[in-house]
Amino acid sequence: MVRSSQATTFSSLPYFFDRGVHGTAQPITERINPHSRPIVSYYFPKGVGAQHYGERHPMKPHRLTLTNALVMGYGLDKQIHHIYDPRPATQEELENYHDHDYIEFLSKVTPQNQGQMRQMIDNFNCVEDCPIFADIYDFCRMYAGGSLAGARKLCAGTTDIAINWSGGLHHAKRGEASGFCYVNDIVLGILELLRYHPRVLYIDIDIHHGDGVELAFYQSNRVMTVSFHKYTGDFFPGTGKLDDNGNGLGKHFCLNVPLLDGIDDDMYLTIFKTVIDDTVTAFRPSAIVLQCGADSLGCDRLGAFNLSIAAHGECVNFVRKYNVPLLVVGGGGYTIKNVSRCWTYETSVLVGAEIPDELPATVYDSFFEDSHWKLHPPLTGKVDNQNSPASLQRITISIRNKLRYLQGAPSVAMQEIPPDLQGLLASEDRTAEEKDEERGMGQAGERRHDPSNGRNEYFDGNNDVDQDDTSARGRGGTPRRGRGRGRGRGRGRGRAVATPGTISTHGAEEDDTTAEESVVPPRRGRGRGRGRGKRGRPPLNRDKDKDKDKDNNPTPETPSTPMDVEVDGQ
Ligand SMILES: [Zn+2]
Repeated sequence: MVRSSQATTFSSLPYFFDRGVHGTAQPITERINPHSRPIVSYYFPKGVGAQHYGERHPMKPHRLTLTNALVMGYGLDKQIHHIYDPRPATQEELENYHDHDYIEFLSKVTPQNQGQMRQMIDNFNCVEDCPIFADIYDFCRMYAGGSLAGARKLCAGTTDIAINWSGGLHHAKRGEASGFCYVNDIVLGILELLRYHPRVLYIDIDIHHGDGVELAFYQSNRVMTVSFHKYTGDFFPGTGKLDDNGNGLGKHFCLNVPLLDGIDDDMYLTIFKTVIDDTVTAFRPSAIVLQCGADSLGCDRLGAFNLSIAAHGECVNFVRKYNVPLLVVGGGGYTIKNVSRCWTYETSVLVGAEIPDELPATVYDSFFEDSHWKLHPPLTGKVDNQNSPASLQRITISIRNKLRYLQGAPSVAMQEIPPDLQGLLASEDRTAEEKDEERGMGQAGERRHDPSNGRNEYFDGNNDVDQDDTSARGRGGTPRRGRGRGRGRGRGRGRAVATPGTISTHGAEEDDTTAEESVVPPRRGRGRGRGRGKRGRPPLNRDKDKDKDKDNNPTPETPSTPMDVEVDGQ
């Protein structure tokens, strides 16, 4: 009875009488921010943007420098939790996937000695699309080092998202180069993820089929590959048809979404979201690798799709929302002003920041003046859409049917755990590396002068289209560059600039490579009837490329790489 007469709330007790509204207890759970952002790590190998494939070659690593300039210009570095200059991959790390002979060759070949190495150059397909250029091996080690470092950090659980725009070279094979790609950083990164993660989903939105990654894991049920690409049979690399589904243990763990020219935002997003949602539901990946090749944008120099940057970025956003550890890499992309816009926008999507359509002022303003320095220029509607809702629906239904095999036998997909997991996690070396990574954070954003001005001399002829004398131009009032401008522009572009810096490289690391034995198919893998990677993409079309090159080569006078960071002890 007494109790019922005193049935009052706790806050009505005398202690709270003088507290007014503050007397009401608040559940502690309300203090947890329901919109907490993921931890994002960003990998930018110093000097990677100064690499140079050669005269008129459409692959221009300078797009990475542009991307960084925009990322920094927007202040996204303040939203990114960790920025790293990763140490280059070691030869041992590259040979976790690639053949020893091939890596030995890459480490030794130079423009100067290639005359004596003709046979090997041909054997390893380092011709035409994949030329030998100065520092080719350093370039490979840099971009592979970024993807490996990102994968390691994801395994350690110290980041939710790792970004390496310099990676994504998805065509490289175990023993040969292909399609502008020499070593396959994606395969290496996935192998690293497999040390910890039982199932890795690979998604590829480059306009070209992700053949190198598919081939590496074609017989694995621990890696599911899904590639969205243009497929006509003769478009490079000529593979990736709807009914290529994997083999052996990997049967049903490979999906291909073959598309035709001109696909627009609505169609692409519809099929992308449907297929990815179905795949994630069926496969339940514990980590995802997303290749963001930007040659699927409209107006790409080599591509023929009609995607806007917003739609391309929406694919990234859609994958991000699964909240699965995510490694994001670059890939193709040959109209470099749009590549850099795209990857900048996608960086903002991944960190959860909104950025304005007005580009920040950078020393690379001249690249963006023709679209009035907008982040989202009109890129769509330039190519007729040859896809139909009915054709896309047929693909979607076909893929849904294939995925039933996974749901029917989930134990196949779910049973395997890396056998040496405990040993790897206990590795002192790996712990030390993680500590090094932590020490290396937060040093980006300074403008430095690069002592490496002399690199790539081999390509410094008068016809070197990446060299140009364009002055940095202010906004407004600057006449648009005519397309008829001649070549042979003088030197002066920022072969990077750097002053002594502060970021330490990570110590060398020995790797234990037992986990991947079961997931790598036999050497070379040519037995699948694939060609040497030359199908479809003709050797560079000089005349056609010549005109398009102009869009890729306006260059400011101030040679600066804002995010270049110096490495001690190199
Ligand atoms: Zn591509």
